[in-house]
Amino acid sequence: VLTSTLFSSYKQEKPLYKDAKQPIEKRIDDLLARMNLQEKVMQLNQYTLGRNDNANNMADPVNGIPAEIGSLIYFGSNADLRNKVQKKAMEQSRLGIPIIFGYDVIHGFRTIYPISLGQACSWNPALVEKACGVAAQEARMSGIDWTFSPMIDVARDGRWGRVAEGYGEDTYTNAIFTVASVKGYQGKDLSSDKNVAACLKHYIGYGASEAGRDYVYSEISNQTLWDTYMAPYEAGVKAGAVTLMSSFNDISGTPGSANHYTLTEVLKKRWKHDGFVVSDWGSIEQLRPQGVAANKKEAALKAFTAGVEMDMMNRAYDNYLAELVKEGKVSEDLLNDAVRRVLRVKFRLGLFDRPYTPTTTENQRFYRPESLKIAEQLAEESIVLLKNKDKALPLNNVSKIAVIGPMAKSQWNLLGSWAAQGKSDEIITISDALQAEYKGKAEVNYALGADFDGKDKKGFEEAKALAAKSDVIVLCLGEKKDWSGENASRSTIALPQIQEELAIELKKLGKPIILVLSSGRPLELNRLEPISDAILTMWQPGTPGGRPLSGVLSGRVNPSGKLAMTFPFSTGQIPIYYNYRQSARPHQGKYQDIQSTPLYEFAHGLSYTTFEYGDLKVSSTKLKRGEKLTVEIPVKNVGDREGVETVHWFIQDPVSTISRPIKELKYFEKQLLKKGETKTYKFELDLERDLSFVDGDGKRFLEAGDYNIIVKNKKIKIEIVD
Ligand code: BGC
Repeated sequence: VLTSTLFSSYKQEKPLYKDAKQPIEKRIDDLLARMNLQEKVMQLNQYTLGRNDNANNMADPVNGIPAEIGSLIYFGSNADLRNKVQKKAMEQSRLGIPIIFGYDVIHGFRTIYPISLGQACSWNPALVEKACGVAAQEARMSGIDWTFSPMIDVARDGRWGRVAEGYGEDTYTNAIFTVASVKGYQGKDLSSDKNVAACLKHYIGYGASEAGRDYVYSEISNQTLWDTYMAPYEAGVKAGAVTLMSSFNDISGTPGSANHYTLTEVLKKRWKHDGFVVSDWGSIEQLRPQGVAANKKEAALKAFTAGVEMDMMNRAYDNYLAELVKEGKVSEDLLNDAVRRVLRVKFRLGLFDRPYTPTTTENQRFYRPESLKIAEQLAEESIVLLKNKDKALPLNNVSKIAVIGPMAKSQWNLLGSWAAQGKSDEIITISDALQAEYKGKAEVNYALGADFDGKDKKGFEEAKALAAKSDVIVLCLGEKKDWSGENASRSTIALPQIQEELAIELKKLGKPIILVLSSGRPLELNRLEPISDAILTMWQPGTPGGRPLSGVLSGRVNPSGKLAMTFPFSTGQIPIYYNYRQSARPHQGKYQDIQSTPLYEFAHGLSYTTFEYGDLKVSSTKLKRGEKLTVEIPVKNVGDREGVETVHWFIQDPVSTISRPIKELKYFEKQLLKKGETKTYKFELDLERDLSFVDGDGKRFLEAGDYNIIVKNKKIKIEIVD
């Protein structure tokens, strides 16, 4: 009786934290002062909603979830369920603290965009920002406040299934797209009902999992940690990303979810991140099998004191954190700091003031014309034309097109992994898109030929018969949706034998072969390349399906994508990437059996027009520290149609205190050039930013001496003098 009387008078006093006009930090102070230990601890836990991943939510998702829970992963797109659960938190918990609902909105929510690796090949961060903005709008209007995206793990091993989820092999590229996606998700005002909180993941080094096996250890020196892996995270934090996710992997023995250096010393102290870190799913309790904690309680202690504020599906903090505080192993200060961080993000999202998702119709939320337009453009720009022998493409003067292969009538596979609420039955297949594209102009016929995998060659004959009476074969091969993504590593990045055999059989007919690939990773193509007249990768395009590709095949769209990840000649070359270090005998260390160079290099990609690069021009060849340098290159469209060209600017530091990469990307720019037009591409270097290197603790050095600036096969030398 006493408590309930206190409770009601307490309620009437209109606590400061509920006053939207008060500054956020004051509201947090007020709320924190009212919270008891158990309430604080509960803010630091995330269970699930809409899936049976926590012990008690299956039978009744609303009653099963404690009103005090801090966060839920909501696997759904119906705001009603969210609102019901939120109502419970607001009305049945003592203090009425709203829940933050998270979800993996990776490359779209309902309108699905190409996988991130494909997005990076567009070299169009402004467009990626817009796409993430659409994803945010669809998600927030469906009851999601927070996405576990972007994944910004630099990844150089195509066997790892999660290369699909990131922006490729290069550090700078990842950093640029990190900023674009964070801006797109979070917008200018996180509290708007069209924005969601971003989550940089997986902090850190997950992309270096040994031999491309998921969830395993990684071996990263401090030098390489800073050189290769940190910059995208630093850029994302600077861009305002309010959360990060700690990774599964360990770095040379220290797990990402127990790493005090990366989580606290760097992230919180040096970068001054004031949001929070969520563990990866189970990555706290996995400190046990990783061999750094004897039991879950110790795991909770290690993760929490390292700097992981929220427990995603470990049931470690809810079970042990209060005990650890009472025992004095976790300080009250650290606990309060963690809760403050979580509350801060909730306040910034406006959840205290508008906890519920307004009711809208599906038409208001999804597939809005402008959203679909962005998806279409991004899918078009992510297509990379890898080979085009004797202008085999575009397919103009043909009357009979044979569309063959397991990908030709795929819908599901074109979505790519982590497709959130994407609906595959709403996707146009490659075959149907070509039918529509060539309506009235050419006959388009389809044969399966072979399945993705297996040994069944029964379909070969039908495919060959169709090919024999056609002018050209559009051969659609690739990977199924679930061959990439989480826990989807492959020991080889070649296509299954049956697909290669189908290609070899079809080649015997002597018809031109246009090889169309859809996959979540670069592929080994050394047997397919010689028998293909043209090769394109469409990655996994998402909702636009086969239409962007059919536009490229017909010439309606001029391809402009360039690779953000190297296509090795063979899986055996992995790891292979463009910015390898200068080495002792650069021309001698070769494989005896195969070439040592990749099949298609980073930044490779063809157009239907031809671009001619002029000479590089620098504003000055001798510079002092602090001075500015401008480098220019004229590019002329000498072909017979307009086209878009991305120029990649690399630098090289040939002699330095430590051996530096052969070249490093520092800038890129994409421009449209009309037929006959010349445009000047310009790179304004900041010497400290672009020519310096880091040491094993992230400290930057700019050394005097010579540097080269490289564009394609052009190179110009500059000198820094003291
Ligand atoms: C993945 C994360 C993801 C999380 C939540 C984990 O298994 O590694 O990337 O965000 O699940 O679904």
